[in-house]
This record gives sequence, structure tokens and C-alpha cells, in this order.
Amino acid sequence: MRAVVFERYGETAEVREVADPAPAEHGVVVRVEATGLCRSDWHGWQGHDPDIVLPHVPGHELAGVVEAVGDRVSRWRPGDRVTVPFICACGTCPSCAAGDHQVCERQTQPGFTHWGSFAQYVALDHADVNLVALPGDMSFTTAASLGCRFATAYRAVVRQGRVAAGEWVAVHGCGGVGLSAVMIAAASGARVVAVDVSAGALDLARKFGAAQCVDAAAVTDTAAAVRDLTGGGAHLSLDALGSPVTCAASVNGLRRRGRHVQVGLLPSPDGTTPVPMARAIALELELLGSHGMAAHGYPPMLELVRSGVLRPDLLVTSTIPLAEAPSALAAMGTAPGAGATVIEPWS
Ligand SMILES: [Zn+2]
Ligand SMILES: [Zn+2]
Repeated sequence: MRAVVFERYGETAEVREVADPAPAEHGVVVRVEATGLCRSDWHGWQGHDPDIVLPHVPGHELAGVVEAVGDRVSRWRPGDRVTVPFICACGTCPSCAAGDHQVCERQTQPGFTHWGSFAQYVALDHADVNLVALPGDMSFTTAASLGCRFATAYRAVVRQGRVAAGEWVAVHGCGGVGLSAVMIAAASGARVVAVDVSAGALDLARKFGAAQCVDAAAVTDTAAAVRDLTGGGAHLSLDALGSPVTCAASVNGLRRRGRHVQVGLLPSPDGTTPVPMARAIALELELLGSHGMAAHGYPPMLELVRSGVLRPDLLVTSTIPLAEAPSALAAMGTAPGAGATVIEPWS
């Protein structure tokens, strides 16, 4: 099969022929029809993920058709149209037993713990636990945009963030996950303030339901701007980018007893990030993390997509062939871009 491979961190990946994967006894091989390009792939390529072993194939937001199944898989057959959360759970550890597959103690992540979906085929573990059947009318491109950013945003806003109609929700960073969060919060009846340095990203945020926008490149204190626009601060605020600056701005833009949800990854050399904890104490803020979404959490989200309340298809702004993936991956560092790019490995 053809796949995007990199041998060293930060060096341009290349498209080459590699061996086809085989399914584990509890796993499947999926023929990849569409796979999203995400900032997490860029982090992995930069060497920020300790799970990656070189040479490596990135890619974790995918949709396709089951090609081969392992002997111990009971729920899936070749030909099934599927997607998968980017965190694949074991199904049996204490966290999985409690239903918290998104923080599985033995999780695997395609494109991180093993080769991913920037390829014509990908192997996925514990298929009975992790695969999600696609509604018959959902395109592979739309489905590929669900696995990481959209599902992550859905859980961050709806479950972890406990959004309620009429609340003010601030979204810091309007890339793929941020725009997804804007759409989901607005569809939940919240009033959304979108924050970004890019005018193009803010235009999309408005299109997806943001009531207010803050151009972070034009104001000196984005948290103060959010507090002004929301009559004292957001009820719920997300750092959808993942940087010390946007994390602090999200926390500082909350009203009393507000909820901050950290969604964007925060890699740092010593694994820590400064957070304005004095404000968290004084205002009794809740600081929450959100880490993907389990396969069993998909049905209510898929129903909202099927009924047209949520439109993840609108987030996909370009589709590219596999040959363009290496340069697009490199470009995620400097220009994460507005909206999502989806790779079609067979084109
Ligand atoms: Zn588990
Ligand atoms: Zn992702």
C-alpha cells in the first residue's frame, strides 16, 4: 500500500510503498477512504509524542470500509462502513469497565502508538469496542472529520462543559476543534464568543453561529474583551488551541463559578503549564480536561448530524490526495488554517 512515512522528527515525510497491515485477532484492517489532517499529527511529527516509534505513519481521524477482520471480532464484517475514535480502548480495564473508554489505561491511538491512517489501509485494535458504524447517508469525508476534533469538541462542550441554553461560551482558538465547538455550543442554544488571531477563522466562526468575535491580534487583553462582551465573563470557556497564552486567557475570561475546559494539547518540556490558579480559587472556577470521546458516546452526536442540527461537513474546507499530505502536515505548524483538510488516500 501507499503511505505517508517519516523517518526523523520534523523532516519532510514522503509517500512510499510499504507492506499492507494484517488484523490482530481482536482487530480489523480498514481501507481508508478519507482521513483528516489534525494539529496533533503535526505535534507527533515534531517529536512531541513519546509513543511514536520511527519510522512512522501519522493519521488518526479516519473513515473507511472494513477490509479484513481478526478471528475474535464478532460485530464487524468486511464491507462495513466505519469510523473510530482516535483513542481506541481495551474494553476491559477498570476505566473501560466504568464506561470511560476515552481514558482507557491500555489505550492505543492510530497514528501515535502504531501506524495511522495517512495510508491506504490501517490496522485498528479491539474492533468490537471501538468501531462506530456510519449512518448510510454519511460521506466518508464528513465521517473522517468526526473522529478527533468534532467528537472531542462535542464531549468538551456537552459532557465535560455541561453547556446550557442561554449561557455565554468562549472558544479560544478557531481551528478544526474550535470551530466544531462553536457550532456545537451554538446549536445547544448558547451564545458563543469566538477568539482567534485569524480574520478568516473568525469569519468561519460567525458562519457557524458565533454571536461575538474577538480578534486576538488586535486587542491587548483577550480575556478582558471576553468579559466585556459577556457582561462579566463566560459561563463556559474552552482553550481549543492549546498554548499557555490561550489557556490563561480562557481561565481569565470566565465569570464566577465558570468552567474552563482544556481541549488543545499543551506540550511543554517539563509537562507543566502555568495556570492562573489564584483566580480559580477566588472565583471558584472549575478546570476540566477533555480527552476525545468513547465510541459508545457517538450515537447522540451522529443523530444530531443526521438530522442536520450539526454540520461537520461544513468544517471541511479542502480535500487533497496522499501526495500532498507531507507538505500539508508541515504547514500545520505555522498555519493551522481555518477549517479542516481531509486526505483521500486513493486519489
Ligand atoms: Zn481500557
Ligand atoms: Zn486529531
